[in-house]
Amino acid sequence: MSNATSVLEDLLQALPELHSQIYFKSSLTALSHAMEDQVLAGSGDRPIVIASFQRERFYRQEANRYLRIADKTDQTYVLAAPETDFANHSGPYETIAFNSSDALSKEWHLVVLGQQYAACLICRERPINEAEVTLTNDQSRRFEGIWTFDRATVCKAAALLLDRILAYRPELAKKIAKAKQQIVADAKPGFNNVDPGPFTERLVTYLQAGQYKLLKAYRSIAAQERKERLVNSITSAIRRSLKPDEIFNVAVQELGQALHVCRCLLYRCKDTDTQVKIQHEYLAPGVKPLQGATWSLKNNPLFQEVVQRRERICIQDTQVTPWLLEDGRAIAPASEQVSKWQIAAWLMVPVIHQNRLMGIVELHLCNHTLREWNEAELDLVEAIASQIGVALIQAEAYANLEELNQQLEALDRTRSNLIAITGHELRTPLSTIQVCLESLSSDPDMPVEVQQVMLSSALADAERLRKLVQDFLTLSDLESGRVQWHVEPLPLQECVDLALSNVRARQKFDQLPAISSQVSDDLPMVQTDGEWLVEVLAKLLDNACKFTESTGTVEIEAHPNGGEMIEVTVTDTGRGIEPDRLEVVFDRFYQEEGALRRTAGGTGLGLAICRQIVHGLGGEIWAESDGKDKGSKFHFTVPISRNPKLELAPPPKSRAKATKVRGRR
Ligand code: ADP
Repeated sequence: MSNATSVLEDLLQALPELHSQIYFKSSLTALSHAMEDQVLAGSGDRPIVIASFQRERFYRQEANRYLRIADKTDQTYVLAAPETDFANHSGPYETIAFNSSDALSKEWHLVVLGQQYAACLICRERPINEAEVTLTNDQSRRFEGIWTFDRATVCKAAALLLDRILAYRPELAKKIAKAKQQIVADAKPGFNNVDPGPFTERLVTYLQAGQYKLLKAYRSIAAQERKERLVNSITSAIRRSLKPDEIFNVAVQELGQALHVCRCLLYRCKDTDTQVKIQHEYLAPGVKPLQGATWSLKNNPLFQEVVQRRERICIQDTQVTPWLLEDGRAIAPASEQVSKWQIAAWLMVPVIHQNRLMGIVELHLCNHTLREWNEAELDLVEAIASQIGVALIQAEAYANLEELNQQLEALDRTRSNLIAITGHELRTPLSTIQVCLESLSSDPDMPVEVQQVMLSSALADAERLRKLVQDFLTLSDLESGRVQWHVEPLPLQECVDLALSNVRARQKFDQLPAISSQVSDDLPMVQTDGEWLVEVLAKLLDNACKFTESTGTVEIEAHPNGGEMIEVTVTDTGRGIEPDRLEVVFDRFYQEEGALRRTAGGTGLGLAICRQIVHGLGGEIWAESDGKDKGSKFHFTVPISRNPKLELAPPPKSRAKATKVRGRR
């Protein structure tokens, strides 16, 4: 059974002089409770009480009150749209379950009609328009309708509601008829003549309670707003920078001040770090600084706990927290930290990004401060820690980008060098060869001696070209790992001799500086690939001769470095290297004066090849120089053989052949 008409409309039609008004849900709750309390406070008068709830759940909150009201009168009716087990029932009071499609489900009614006291509240919920949806909470739901003490209106409302009840519960016809008789009897015009005290008192109490609720809500909104403003200001301050140091500085200062702590620390760390150096700190006046100190993490149970749980730990009082104690005794480093730095309360919040621990924010209250951190403050620190994480990731990404940029710039320099070198180093010998061959073919009467010179120049330049191409190929093989190492125990001195004779043979037309070797033949055997080792030695010796005047000297020496290596050094008295160039000389195509202004020939690949070979053989290579015109030293290390078998070492001659064969590839 359903009834689609609204009780409010029926009432307004019956009594056109009535004007409906808007009520918030909170006001209707206050009024209803005050009306019910008036019934509960009344004695002797047995009123008719009809309450219609929109849903069973609203009735449930009041069910106990209605049991007490039913003690006062047997004419109590409660209506609601059932949700679980609300049904038509005659108990201490009558319950009437109406269909959820009934217009009653949109309305809120309470009628109290006694001889001394009459009041009614007949309201209908106003639909919320879309713009209001987000703003609306339960308490601000709005209703329109009538609330009055006017007896005639109350009687009419009671009669209308009793008709609705009768439609749902026809078996109550007799009881309802009795109620209607009472209505006729009570239908005298005018207002109540009872003491309005209980009603007013209750109303004021409910209004007060409502006001307190509002105040609380305002306070929590204000706190939330304050927190958001703080997070925003810190966040924008740290996001403005891409430098981790700056981010850390701003964050500790802002956080320390905002939370009025004694000390705020912020440091980078990983899960496995054992200690950190404190570099960023906020200090309240008079607090002992930690800046520059080494802060133990490994033995700090607080840190270990944070690493494990990956969430904040807050110790409101370091003197009573049991897990800082082991067997009833404070764990030494933690208690040391607590007493040395006077930490009375200790908060540690991890800075985490994608489950990676990036750092820690620590807040300390010192000297028995009697303040405790509340949940909102703890959440705030956590929010800021996560912002720091994001800012750090951004800074890291920026640093990576910068590094990438530098690599790109280096690559670009290499490319330009490559073009310049190929332009110069390939074109120059080619032109010489071309001129020589053209002259030889166009001038058959050329004297034999001149022919000889022409042929030698063409041959020398062809050799230069071959060397350049070979260096390109060698480096490319080494860099792409296409090289097979044949490592075996070898006497270093033989490799040095071989390299020296190669250099002398290659540079036989040039005026060389004096070369001397200090490599003793009783050095331990080295574990290496002889061909490649000779290549390194030859290149270093070539360079030393190339960049040293013929009046200067070149010296090669070798000695064990006290570990498992032999250190070989090629020293010259030549033009030297500026200190800031000592690393880059090993880069591909690095040439100090640029390819086009070169006096000595070369490809800028020699040292890059040497570095690849030495690393491939398990050693290190580096350059030393006191600067321009102060000579240079090139050092490299070769592993000492652990199990030297002299008989395995091949005679130097066959190695010379092997080197030459590979040289002709
Ligand atoms: P290049 O074919 O130009 O010699 P390298 O890779 O062998 O190429 O050397 C790169 C650069 O390092 C040289 O151009 C030179 O500027 C510098 N260099 C190498 N060896 C020496 C040295 N013994 N003394 C001074 N400068 C050197």
